[in-house]
Amino acid sequence: MGAVPKDSMSRMARPTSHNAPPPNADPGERSPPRAPRRAPRGGDALGRRGSAPPPAALAEEGPPAPTVHPMVVDEDRIDPDAAKVVRRLTRHGYQAYLVGGCVRDLLVGRKPKDFDVATSARPDDVRRLFKNSRIIGRRFRLVHVLFGGGKVIETATFRRAPRQEDEREGDDLLIRNDNVFGDADEDARRRDFTINGLFYDIEAHQIIDWVDGMPDIERRAVHTIGDPVVRFQEDPVRILRAIKFSARLDLGITAGVYDAIVQCRGLLAMAARPRLFEEVLRLLRGGAAHRSVWLCWETGVLDVLLPELAAYLADAGDSDGLVWRLLSEVDRRTEERGEPFDDIVLCSALLLEPMREACAGARDRVSAAHEFLEPVVDRLNVPRRIADAMRRIVALLPRLEAGRPGRFARTPLYGVAHQVVELSRAAQGLPAPAGAEPAPPEPLSPPRPRRRRRRSRRQRPPG
Ligand code: ATP
Ligand code: MG
Repeated sequence: MGAVPKDSMSRMARPTSHNAPPPNADPGERSPPRAPRRAPRGGDALGRRGSAPPPAALAEEGPPAPTVHPMVVDEDRIDPDAAKVVRRLTRHGYQAYLVGGCVRDLLVGRKPKDFDVATSARPDDVRRLFKNSRIIGRRFRLVHVLFGGGKVIETATFRRAPRQEDEREGDDLLIRNDNVFGDADEDARRRDFTINGLFYDIEAHQIIDWVDGMPDIERRAVHTIGDPVVRFQEDPVRILRAIKFSARLDLGITAGVYDAIVQCRGLLAMAARPRLFEEVLRLLRGGAAHRSVWLCWETGVLDVLLPELAAYLADAGDSDGLVWRLLSEVDRRTEERGEPFDDIVLCSALLLEPMREACAGARDRVSAAHEFLEPVVDRLNVPRRIADAMRRIVALLPRLEAGRPGRFARTPLYGVAHQVVELSRAAQGLPAPAGAEPAPPEPLSPPRPRRRRRRSRRQRPPG
């Protein structure tokens, strides 16, 4: 397949404008590894809050100590409800930290999307401490602590990576089951990238680093925790996550990880299809669609995910760079709007040019679009609702671009179709199409969950 990296822009040591230390990350303040700061098994990594000292034998064999970095993150950058959850858990004697994406985003100077908490408390313990919570998940039980405005603070008990002998099947490394409770250090190490494995202790104002994540934050690098080939074999979706973080946060990808992406990209075909589609949407939603798709192309990942688009790009069908200009336009307007486009707009924009080519000259544009999209729908599990909408939009494209939407202007799909045409015309340097302005956009996706009506007592069958 045509997967020769086109250039190595994204490989590590790529000098970026962000090479300066991120806010709050003053390397001068880094504390040296504190040798005896070993987390007693099941106890507190920092030896606080009265956790029992470990038996001597265990202390000998315990995990290596984390590096602890004093770090004062402004309270106003931390969600007060997340802080409330952490503080209540610690007051009741549990370990609790902010973890994952929120810590990473705080350290690279971005506003976190949401705040996750990891704790030594078991789900039932968390549930007991927060009346406003519910346990979710069958295999791995998490607690959602609910606050006003629909805010959810996901609170998960520390868990460890599955071991070969217990959770994995057969000889391959693919993780099928990820549901065993563990300790803080194990929870950090099971995560995907070092920048995602950092814990923030909001009381002690410290980053607890079991995975060498802080050096990677400072050099702005995406690096797996452990061997990248093994980590991608365990879960190929991590390949798309590496690309997402590199593109969205403007980070380099270390050479080893980059090479492992190129080596393992074929495994994406084995990943759960709904997860693949969700990650593709995340690549498009975050304001870095252009860089994400470019990286997918450069690494050959696009040949596996969307060979139709990869072939279109390779055949010089895109000699005028329209695909890339369209994606840049998506990013520019996402930034401007302060929110992502509808999934239908994103998917249509991504495939617009190869779809246009597939329909060119076809007598029946709907079936030409159908034929083009069918393998994509299969491969990525694109929901019917989205695929149907894409088909209709591309079939009507000539009329929409000519500003003659006719009766289609009265359908709920017109709003998103109009956005696709606007994006396309802006990418070509043309003004928005003339014709009917769409009614205020109706949210088309995701569909509203249908509420199941509770049966009243009286209706319930006796017994
Ligand atoms: P985003 O800002 O896109 O939400 P995130 O890092 O918060 O990024 P999530 O998907 O919300 O990503 O996952 C939360 C955390 O769970 C991650 O930061 C990472 O530590 C861990 N994680 C998520 N997916 C994986 C995976 N496939 N393998 C290992 N760890 C993962
Ligand atoms: Mg997240």
